[in-house]
Amino acid sequence: KDAEDKPRRVLLKLSGEAFGGGAVGIDTHVVRRIAGEIVEAVRQGVQVAIVVGGGNFFRGAELQQAGIDRSRGDYMGMLGTVMNCLALQDFLEQAGQATRVQTAITMGQVAEPYIPLKAIRHLEKGRVVIFGAGAGMPYFSTDTVSIQRSLEIHCDEVLMGKNGVDGVYTADPRKDASAQRYATLSYHRALVDNLAVMDASALSMARDNQQRIRVFGLEGSGDVTAALVGENIGTLVST
Ligand code: UDP
Repeated sequence: KDAEDKPRRVLLKLSGEAFGGGAVGIDTHVVRRIAGEIVEAVRQGVQVAIVVGGGNFFRGAELQQAGIDRSRGDYMGMLGTVMNCLALQDFLEQAGQATRVQTAITMGQVAEPYIPLKAIRHLEKGRVVIFGAGAGMPYFSTDTVSIQRSLEIHCDEVLMGKNGVDGVYTADPRKDASAQRYATLSYHRALVDNLAVMDASALSMARDNQQRIRVFGLEGSGDVTAALVGENIGTLVST
């Protein structure tokens, strides 16, 4: 429990890759399971804000390689995140969890605009808030946005849910069998060793503002709930 028994408030980052189950589009089994795990944590009193990635649809950098203007490709990427937000919102609502989506690019018919004070109010009322369309700006990533949103709405920590890896390793565990997982790691070390956890802008923003980050895997059953309620899984990145 936090000081003064303030409820725990967290920012959960969900990779788009996980939503796609390794393909383009949405794997509804995965999204439904993750939604169920989020609902479980909210029932235990955790205030949950979420940033969803969009890598299962488009990444601006990849579209650029295919000949599309970078900024336009980035906007396509941001629009992809909104589809993931709506899918997650639907499964949360189906499970009885009131949920609001707020987007950084205004689209009034499908979501509220990003209004930080309103987002805080939703959280205080026990609603889940999902932030879509990244920062609304090309050349940013949803990792960086996760840190920014977490800081702005005063979350205790950022929980970076990854696909295919369950923390930060000394080397890529998919390529190097001797790779070891860090239990804790400093921002500095992660930056200097160029550990492929999240992009450098996200890491440096976290370091400059001392925003704690827990990197964990989305695939293990129960692990999303565990991270949300504050269990010591994955890798904790801090000072
Ligand atoms: N994006 C962007 N600005 C943002 C957030 C996202 O331009 O503030 C674009 C960018 O092209 C990115 C894509 O949206 O590649 C999908 O987001 P991201 O790659 O962060 O998703 P994830 O890897 O978590 O699935």
